Order: sequence, then structure tokens, then C-alpha cells
Amino acid sequence: MASQNTMDKVVSLCKRRGFVYQSSEIYGGLASIWDYGPLGVALKNNIANYWWREMTQLHENIVGIDASILMHPQVWKASGHVDGFVDPLVDCKNCKARFKAQDLIRQWQTKRKLGALMEGEIREGGEGDLQELVKVRWAEATCPTCGTTGNLTSPRLFNLMLKTFLGPVEESAAVVYLRPETAQGIYVNYLNVLNTSRLKLPFGIAQIGKAFRNEITPGNFIFRTREFEQMEMQFFVRPEEATEWLTKWRDKRFDYYRKLGIRAEKLRLHQHTPQELAHYAADAYDIEYEFPFGWQEIEGIHNRTDFDLKRHSEFSGKDLSYMNEETKDRFTPYIVETSSGLNRTLLTCLVDGYYEDTQDGEPRTVLRLAPAIAPVKAGVFSLVKKDGLAEIADQLANDLRKVGTVFTDHSGSIGRRYRRMDEIGTPWGVTVDYQTKEDQTVTLRDRDSLEQLRVHMAELPALLATKLAVN
Ligand code: ATP
Repeated sequence: MASQNTMDKVVSLCKRRGFVYQSSEIYGGLASIWDYGPLGVALKNNIANYWWREMTQLHENIVGIDASILMHPQVWKASGHVDGFVDPLVDCKNCKARFKAQDLIRQWQTKRKLGALMEGEIREGGEGDLQELVKVRWAEATCPTCGTTGNLTSPRLFNLMLKTFLGPVEESAAVVYLRPETAQGIYVNYLNVLNTSRLKLPFGIAQIGKAFRNEITPGNFIFRTREFEQMEMQFFVRPEEATEWLTKWRDKRFDYYRKLGIRAEKLRLHQHTPQELAHYAADAYDIEYEFPFGWQEIEGIHNRTDFDLKRHSEFSGKDLSYMNEETKDRFTPYIVETSSGLNRTLLTCLVDGYYEDTQDGEPRTVLRLAPAIAPVKAGVFSLVKKDGLAEIADQLANDLRKVGTVFTDHSGSIGRRYRRMDEIGTPWGVTVDYQTKEDQTVTLRDRDSLEQLRVHMAELPALLATKLAVN
């Protein structure tokens, strides 16, 4: 079972092998901001491409856009973010720990450690309206970090949007926000896409891009950060079909993580309770993964109703309704959203794929990444560097590069070279040896089954391409 220990090992592997570095590390780092190294960016791009193919290429009625990070400030008034994207924040005066009030309440609810006063309030209100519970007397509560009582401040509202100024003058009229979600970039382009394409309902618009949130409690490595990437698809439907589409997308998205190689027993769905639903949502599911630090959301699937288009109609004065050409009826479409975190998906793949065993008496660390997303597809080795074997391996590597990224290494024991590839999730190892000179065959070794086959060099590019093809 994955433990916090697994998390520490994954973090250390990421740094050691160049997946993820702390941002501005030579200056001491910037808290909870991360940079992706050579292997990390390859893995991230591969996941993004996998998602893009799955969500656009495979659907005739889903198209993509790439909207700007900075948007008209009215967008965030219309969306409700200026007034509503707030988290009540609680500080412990003793140990300086900082919490989201909701997290504390949930923690207390599940651990049943709440003081008599709060328990009473929760019992009265069933699961309780979290916003109301935020008003309970914090002074009597115990800090979960240091265990002292009476040191928690009352909750203060804190807007999670990061602000900046456009133009040379730092005045309130010049304030713009770094988008806290990519979705709004799709809604404000809905009419553009509709008018410039031949799409009819139901149809979707997909986007991958950066989002920024001034999170109160970032952490768990790249799980929750202040700068991150989202992969979102907004599906526009007739209102009466929204429930059916929510179910379809929920199931499709759940299957997607299975296709990405994530173990089924580590995935589950959580339907939002009425208290958890966002102001725009009629129904919502989270796809959750069991991380070493507990079950956590990796993707949200929401029935956002006609809230967004109606609000943008209202605030922009533009008619965003849809006319059914055949029946001539006019209505505002409902939106079913699938919202996934790219960095969180990457962390999920790393944690789920992390595995240790012993081979030939030597410990081995393996990342069981699906071949389609593995940063390096094959390690190409020569048994020894001399006698022309390295040259044959280099030539073969060049042929294989047309199929995917390969890595060559001609020194050290062959077992050690395989292990270095296993550790970064490379699915195949190819070794050129003396027999290669006689019959042009090489050894193809599989990372997971450890099976070794002799394959003709000329057949290898096509064989790897077939193995890499995604259904
Ligand atoms: P959480 O409850 O974890 O804060 P959320 O419900 O606010 O997430 P959404 O607004 O639904 O998240 O965002 C959709 C997806 O974007 C999440 O499932 C997650 O994968 C990703 N995401 C959201 N916030 C962050 C963050 N701070 N860091 C990394 N990924 C994030």
C-alpha cells in the first residue's frame, strides 16, 4: 500500500532524475511553485497530448481553443469569482499553521473530535451548511497541528484570485486577474466558435492552459500549487439533456484514467452533496484518487446549467442564446464541464506507477507509466562500446527516434542501464550485442514482464510504433 514514504520517494525521484525541480531553487526556492525538468516536461506534454487526442481528435463535435490568461475584469464579475471565489481562512496563533475553515470542519466532522458546541450544531443541521458552520465559535476549538485550544482566529474571507495591473499605472482601474480557471476563456468565446464553425448542439470546446489560485494551503508537492495547468472541456447541450450528458461524461472520464494505466482500486467517484455544490452547479462528481495523503479530487465533472452563458449575456449585453434551426426554438444551452488538472494527473501517474522490487539480487525502482505517456520510449544500449557495437546502436537509435524519444547509453553494466531506464518509466530496453553483427537481431526487453525477445533491427521501428499506438 502506498504510504507517505512512497510520496517522499516519488518527490526524491523527481528531483534526482529531472522530472520536477523547485522553482528558483538557487535563490532558496519559491514556496509551492515548481519547474518541470527534461523528463517532467516530456511526461507533462505526453499527458496533455493524450488528453487532447482523447477529447478532441476522437470526437467530431469537439474543437479546441487557446484563450489568453488575462481577460477583461468584467469576466470575473460575471462568473462570480470577484465576489464568491473566497475561502474562509483560519490561523493558529500558537503554531502559525493556516487552514481553510472548510477543511477544518470536514476534518472535525470525520474525526468526531469536535467540541461539544460544534457537535451540537452539526447534529442539528445534519451534515450542516458549511457556510453557517464557519461562524461557530473558533475560540473554543483545538488546533489539529499543535493541539492547543483557544488559539484559532475566527475565519477571514480571502479571495483566491491573483491580481496584477495592465499598463504602467498601478491603479484600481488597471486591475486584471490571472485566470483562476480556464473555463471562462471558453464561455466568452462560445459565440465566436459557434459563428465560425458548423457545429450544432451538442458540441464541446476543449482547452489546456495555465490557471492561478492564491491557495491558502498549497502543498503535497505538485498536488496543490498556486500556478497549475487545467485540461477542460465544456460541452454545450440542450437543457433537458444535461443530466444524461453528465452521466456519459462522468463514465467516459473515469474510464480515461483506467486507460492511462491508473489502478481501478485507487479510483472512485464522489457525488457532491448539496452543501458541496458550487454556486453554478446543479449536480457534480469528483473523480478521486487514493494518494498516500488520502483520497483527493483529480477531476471534477459538473452540470453548470445555463448559469455561465446567462451571466455573460447579462454582463456583456450580447445574446448568447442558441436557435434550433429546425424547430426555431431559442434557449440558453446548459454546460457539462469536465475539468482535470494536468499537474495532478502527472502526480497521479507517478504515485500510481511507483513500484519497487528486486531483480537478480539488486533492488529495482520502476515507474509503471503507460507507454503512450512515458517520457522515454526505449533505452538503446550496446553490450560493449567497442567492436562497432556502439555505432550499430546509435544508428538504430536514430531510426527509432522517428517513432518516439529514445535514449542511448553505452557504458556500465547492462543490468544497471536497464534499471536506470526502469526508474524513469521507459517501457522498453534494446540491446545490441555480438549476435547482432551476425543476424541483425537485438534483444528487446519489457520493463514490466521482464520478457526478452530477439527482434530483427529492421522490424523494430514498426514494432514499437504498433506497441505505442493508443486505442
Ligand atoms: P480542490 O477542491 O482540490 O481545491 P477544486 O474543486 O477547487 O479543487 P476545480 O475548480 O474543480 O477544483 O478544478 C478542476 C481541477 O483542477 C481539479 O480537479 C484539479 O485537478 C485541478 N486543480 C484545481 N486547483 C488546483 C491547484 N491549486 N493545484 C493543482 N491543480 C489544481
